[in-house]
Amino acid sequence: MKTLSKIPMQLLEVEFIPEQLEEGKFYYSEKYKTASHLCACGCGQNFHVQIKEGEWNISNKEPLTVTPSFKHRIQCMAHYIISDGFANIVNYPKPKSEWFTRYGFQDSQPGE
Ligand SMILES: [Zn+2]
Repeated sequence: MKTLSKIPMQLLEVEFIPEQLEEGKFYYSEKYKTASHLCACGCGQNFHVQIKEGEWNISNKEPLTVTPSFKHRIQCMAHYIISDGFANIVNYPKPKSEWFTRYGFQDSQPGE
């Protein structure tokens, strides 16, 4: 899959996932085996997952690598893989945010 954009994504270990999340941070509670982050596209959706066998796995903390990929099935429909400290966006049907355009499509070439 071709990467459309690389958005920085950093692990932040917490006991409780805060109510207000910041963009570009992947909040992880080892105690509760959960993680939350705002969608890498900047749409503001909170992506909350379980970190356990059969769900998501943090295979490296620094730089952050998480498997499998994240696919939003509602609203933005973004699909990205968090690897080596970046959310690598491989599908992004509905770009719009300022956060995204700041980093957006920096790796793509016109006419590709
Ligand atoms: Zn999104």
